[in-house]
Amino acid sequence: MKEDIQAFDNVLSFIGNTPLVKLPKVTEGLAGNFYGKVEAFNAGHSAKDRIALYIIEAAEKKGLLKPGSTIVETTSGNTGFSIAMVSAIKGYKCVLSVSDKSSADKIDMLRAMGATVYVCPANVPADDPRSYYEVAKSVQKELPNSIYINQYFNELNTEAHYMSTGPEIWEQTGGKITHFVCCSGTGGTISGTARFLKEKNPNIKVLGVDAYGSVLKKYHETGELDPNEIAPYKIEGLGKNLIPTATDFSVIDKFMKVTDKDAAQAARELARTEGLFMGYTSGAVLQATRQYAAQGEFDKDSVVVMLFPDHGSRYMSKIYSDTWMEQQGFLDGEPKNEINYVK
Ligand code: PMP
Repeated sequence: MKEDIQAFDNVLSFIGNTPLVKLPKVTEGLAGNFYGKVEAFNAGHSAKDRIALYIIEAAEKKGLLKPGSTIVETTSGNTGFSIAMVSAIKGYKCVLSVSDKSSADKIDMLRAMGATVYVCPANVPADDPRSYYEVAKSVQKELPNSIYINQYFNELNTEAHYMSTGPEIWEQTGGKITHFVCCSGTGGTISGTARFLKEKNPNIKVLGVDAYGSVLKKYHETGELDPNEIAPYKIEGLGKNLIPTATDFSVIDKFMKVTDKDAAQAARELARTEGLFMGYTSGAVLQATRQYAAQGEFDKDSVVVMLFPDHGSRYMSKIYSDTWMEQQGFLDGEPKNEINYVK
């Protein structure tokens, strides 16, 4: 009887093997064939599930984790959610330190998954004891049987994508992929995937996406971190004001910067036209792809894969709020969808 029941052990079975989807409407008129790798189909709705599971299972293999151990991380959202989800299933405690820039919704999501959250001031230097980096480090030092994921400086972050995202895209395109467009925060997704793809075919072009206000593009071009590049911006999860060691710049061919407004409008267009309700950085990837196309990067035979990192539900109070869009001055040119109140 029991054998007849078609059930999975838990939701960890739904990490990885995300679908590749054609994008005819948002790429209409562009030379090339365009696909989205939709990471929102992971159990925790983002690509970060892959690294959470991979890094936690690596620690288990090394004997660093036992039932009741604690997993600590600094995170503004997706990685924390994924770690909390994997921890809940595997019976670990999860402590996350986040910046006070994180939305209340995101913090509540982490708590809903059973995590303990420290909300830390965003406007203090990284070495201040109140910064989310320092708070995570001191929590980890104080707790026995705890590990610090440290995604920005952990090679296993990159390896997780080398082992899963890269092979999946190679397989799904039958080895025909010519261009990979991906944003870079920790750089784990772009570098791990790119390393795998370039080992298979060194001619594949890896096109990075960066934000105005982030140092990555300039660093890639000059090898120097230019503090003049640093400025506030709205897109969450891509770009950086430091150079993460999880990023392998040697497998990235170039970077393209996008504006907060263009990325927000592109994400809304993805939802409206392709039915893909994606996060802010997915809009950034689509926008960057259009800018690369305008520079003549692709031809009719190009097979272009864009990686869409997470789901739109995490941005309800930002890019999917007309009020927020209006406040930022991003609403002009956007179609106004009706809302009718029936009394
Ligand atoms: N998009 C979103 C929404 C993210 O949370 C992140 C992770 N910071 C990224 C893109 C970038 O991924 P990675 O850290 O692997 O470079």
